[in-house]
Amino acid sequence: QKAEWAQLKTAKTVTEDGQHFEVGANIGTPKDMDAVLANGAEAVGLYRTEFLYMDSSELPTEDDQFEAYKTVLEQMDGKPVVVRTMDIGGDKKLPYLPLPHEDNPFLGYRAIRISLDRQDIFRTQLRALLRASAYGNLRIMFPMIGTVNEFKAAKKVFLEEKDKLVKEGVKVSDNIQTGMMMEVPAAAVLADQFAKVADFFSIGTNDLIQYTMAADRGNDRVSYLYQPYNPSILRLVKHIIDSAHKEGKWAGMCGEAAGDPIMVPLLVGMGLDEFSMSATSVLRVRSQMKGLSASYLKTLAERATTESVTNEDNIKLVKEFTEKH
Ligand code: PEP
Ligand code: MG
Repeated sequence: QKAEWAQLKTAKTVTEDGQHFEVGANIGTPKDMDAVLANGAEAVGLYRTEFLYMDSSELPTEDDQFEAYKTVLEQMDGKPVVVRTMDIGGDKKLPYLPLPHEDNPFLGYRAIRISLDRQDIFRTQLRALLRASAYGNLRIMFPMIGTVNEFKAAKKVFLEEKDKLVKEGVKVSDNIQTGMMMEVPAAAVLADQFAKVADFFSIGTNDLIQYTMAADRGNDRVSYLYQPYNPSILRLVKHIIDSAHKEGKWAGMCGEAAGDPIMVPLLVGMGLDEFSMSATSVLRVRSQMKGLSASYLKTLAERATTESVTNEDNIKLVKEFTEKH
């Protein structure tokens, strides 16, 4: 098995019926790139930049950030790198950025909400990213977007900083996609409208499930409500993918579920374009996809979202479909 996986390292991810799906890896720091390259990921589908902020005793400077982003982009050698802007708040705190106590930090001042409020921090990060964009295939992603106005506001700041750098004569890529995490249920429901303004979606199942099921992702007592195959979640996921495609955009997934063996056939059937996961899962998923037929699994996706009632129904359904084939 390990030998088969090793052979897949330099292969494209293709299903039995010849469909290509992009399998990428999630990283937290440039140090994670060794594993990304060792496992032959086709992209970095999520670079969680908050670790740059958390591993530092003060706000990281524009130059520090630039170096980190440039390293990752250069190592990917033209393959896509989706960098997510700072996602602080929730369970992630910064000692040098004291935030007032909140009763519900996961529902509070977090991610893009902080960035739009503290534009000094946001603009510094965007400038670093824009400067790094000259060294590879950069895509920028905003976390925790809940309204179209939030997305537009973030994009506006991005365009302003881009303009400034261009006027300063700094080399900046003219091909930077700007997209968003799909992890707030309000955004997922309204995905058809978001697809008109965002270049891509990446589904953050860790938060999307937490918020849709109203179950804290870190609380063991309610962990039974972490139900990635629940038809309610799958309908949202399908709506997000279909909405992106209708506008000619792409949709990926970077939450834990993207590398889950039960979830993969469902997502292939729905036509998810990009899967991003821990680097150590990349070859296992590529190997699994080799044995799947995307056209056959369309029926699975259809039934999982229209006929099934529970999470367990869908576990059974996936097993039925994948054993039959
Ligand atoms: C998610 O919410 O699924 C996600 C990928 O982001 P994070 O786990 O960093 O919140
Ligand atoms: Mg999240």
